[in-house]
Amino acid sequence: MCAGVVLMALRMPFRYLEPTFFAGLLDDPVLWVRVRPWGRALLFDCGQLHHLAKRTLKSLAALFITHAHMDHFMGFDTLVRHVLVSPRVFDVFGPPGLAEKIEHKLSAYDWNLNERFWCTFRVHEVFSKHIQRWLFPGPQRFSRQPDGTADRVDSIVYSNQWVRVEAQQVDHHIPVLLYRITEQLTFGLDADRLTASGLSGGPWIKQLKRQFYKGLLGKEALTVRQAQGKRESFHVVTDTRRLYEAIRKNRVPSSIGYMTDLGYSGKNEATVADMLQGVTLLVGECAFLADHVEKARQSCHLCTQDMNLLLQKIRPAFYLPVHLSKSCGEVSQNLYQELRPPAGTKLIHLPERLLPRPLLPCEVRLGS
Ligand SMILES: [Zn+2]
Repeated sequence: MCAGVVLMALRMPFRYLEPTFFAGLLDDPVLWVRVRPWGRALLFDCGQLHHLAKRTLKSLAALFITHAHMDHFMGFDTLVRHVLVSPRVFDVFGPPGLAEKIEHKLSAYDWNLNERFWCTFRVHEVFSKHIQRWLFPGPQRFSRQPDGTADRVDSIVYSNQWVRVEAQQVDHHIPVLLYRITEQLTFGLDADRLTASGLSGGPWIKQLKRQFYKGLLGKEALTVRQAQGKRESFHVVTDTRRLYEAIRKNRVPSSIGYMTDLGYSGKNEATVADMLQGVTLLVGECAFLADHVEKARQSCHLCTQDMNLLLQKIRPAFYLPVHLSKSCGEVSQNLYQELRPPAGTKLIHLPERLLPRPLLPCEVRLGS
């Protein structure tokens, strides 16, 4: 097992997601989110990756990069090393310009020993209005090829039957992506709403469930049963999506917000509030302590007083502060005194580092 803070141990109400933070408070960030029924994982930023086992990295399905500053992106080479001979496509999401940076990374190596079963990277550059895709096929020595463009109709950039990932840009003097990972709701009907609508059970519920899981809601008609006393009647419903919305259980899905490397501004605050409000778990940068506010402003990062204001807007159930600047390392525990989460938000503490730091010369003892 790799070293990491397994956040599930804190009894969070996730059905499918198992988040683990594989970095200490001062380490380069790595958020690993395993999707349990799928057996595969999503990775958010790849800073300090070298301690993750090959078998762990091979279960990756998609990588989500916030931006290409070195502390968030340098682990990409480690990832390539471990998944190289997997005959699969790995999706990589990131801000505009990421494909060119990946092209430069991959072209820094000789690939003359390539094999036809090597992996392919599919890079998705997330613009505000569209997504530009590029392929880097291993069998073709990772040479970059265009793979089309898709208009964005909403903030979702990735989804399957268990999870969806949304992304929006914020400002860090360069574009940075803010991510929200949300569990997909399971099929469920509310008995009271069903009765109020005059509908009663029958084979149509099984068919509606099939439409829900196959993505066919609103695309196929359905014959439903109504019953009043001993009289029953049957009706054809064409808009089955509307039907489901009218009788489904009202549940709020659990979610994770991943927010790092952004400055404190009105525009960033509005995007953060819009995207992350009410997440179950916020994994969020707090780069500086309050007396380093000038450094935070210069480098377009957040300090504790900024984070306290944002927490009032987001109101997560759990908050894990990450990515504290090493310049605050001497007094890192002050972070937990300066942070003032709102009532209802539990603050999670991290060790400074997950891996031991090298010994200082004064700590080395010679044997006699
Ligand atoms: Zn940065």
